[in-house]
Amino acid sequence: MLFSETTLPAPLLAAVSAYGYRELTPVQQQVLPLALAGQDLLVSAQTGSGKTAAFGLPMLAGFIGQTPADGAIPKALILTPTRELAQQLATHLSAFAHGSALRVMAVYGGANFRPQRQQLQQGVDVLVATPGRLFDHLSQDYLNLGQLQCLVLDEADRMLDMGFIKDIQRLQKWLPAQRQTMLFSATFPPAVRQLGLEMTQQAQWVEVAPDHSGASIDQQVLLVPKQRKAELLAELVGKHNWQQTLVFVNTKEAATRLGAELMLDGISHAVFHGDCTQGARNRALAGFAAGNVRVLVATDIAARGLDIPALPRVINLELPVEAEDYVHRIGRTGRAGLDGEAFSFVSPQELPQLQRLQQALGVQLAQSTPAGYEATAPLPERYRTGTGAGADNTARRTDKKHPRHAPRAQARFSKTARNGTHRKPQR
Ligand code: AMP
Repeated sequence: MLFSETTLPAPLLAAVSAYGYRELTPVQQQVLPLALAGQDLLVSAQTGSGKTAAFGLPMLAGFIGQTPADGAIPKALILTPTRELAQQLATHLSAFAHGSALRVMAVYGGANFRPQRQQLQQGVDVLVATPGRLFDHLSQDYLNLGQLQCLVLDEADRMLDMGFIKDIQRLQKWLPAQRQTMLFSATFPPAVRQLGLEMTQQAQWVEVAPDHSGASIDQQVLLVPKQRKAELLAELVGKHNWQQTLVFVNTKEAATRLGAELMLDGISHAVFHGDCTQGARNRALAGFAAGNVRVLVATDIAARGLDIPALPRVINLELPVEAEDYVHRIGRTGRAGLDGEAFSFVSPQELPQLQRLQQALGVQLAQSTPAGYEATAPLPERYRTGTGAGADNTARRTDKKHPRHAPRAQARFSKTARNGTHRKPQR
């Protein structure tokens, strides 16, 4: 179905056309007519499926012709788990609202409070917020949600993971009973289902065929000894001249460690995890999107929902524990109809985990061992030299001239990883 065949008002049709959308995605085809009819919805849809336009366009269609807000009295509130998602949603919704006088803004933690407050007070029609910062604003008296016509809960399963569900339930007392509510979630564990039923009235369930297999994503497992994963990554980036590669690891420590490895290999990179400041995250993303950063090393919590246009590939340097995280990780590529590839680097120790993952996903991933990385292959000379951090550093420093052939430290990579298992992973 084409956007031109929908009943969306002309300014919105012009905006989506300027954005380059012609055909509706499956989630848009299902959600748009129901949302336009004012129906409450519980939608099971993956990130990257086009859900922003699915709820955003009908929502804005209802507001066009209404008087723009005079003060912090939004007509719509979109709650989303992370700052990046809040920024992304606000960017897309602002673009859709371009031909109207409606004002869209995002409030999220990690950014100055006062400018957000001032902007809110100047008038906002569509407010995108992360739960924590929303409550900061609500605890002062200028933000009024009493006129809300539409509430959207985005990535509800991730909000559950991040402990926001109680906050959302608490929000009820600020909301008018008469409103449209749409909840979107990739998965519906019992707590999300319960929340959905509490927040909606006679909601219609919409299930957009879950894409657990990542149909447009070529998924492969590369079998590689644990201590040689960084080396293989550097080799592939160099050999194939990869320009944009998103690499997932499980912990902040692993992200920092891999960043150090890539620096020694002379590969431009940035790290992206929960401890990075908002400024650092924005710079990393902007550099990656602009092609100045070839490898973005990220943890799940930071990268959830990221929309990096036309991202060609994702690498799991470490396998995620949860199948759901695997789906979200590889879902950063293969978006909006473009093909992508996803490589998981799996060491012999991780094979049982791979097995569990494949069972949960109901897929069998193609496996191969890159030439020279066979388990039986004798370790290269560089792994046999240097057993301590000091020896390792010395070896590395001398190597800057020939980065790809740099002596690497088996000891450092595996030792730190081993230490890491005693701590709760920090994502
Ligand atoms: P979302 O799931 O809303 O984050 O969208 C994922 C990506 O798909 C974004 O880059 C959107 O700009 C893009 N997109 C959404 N809907 C369409 C469409 N109908 N045609 C082309 N691209 C789209």
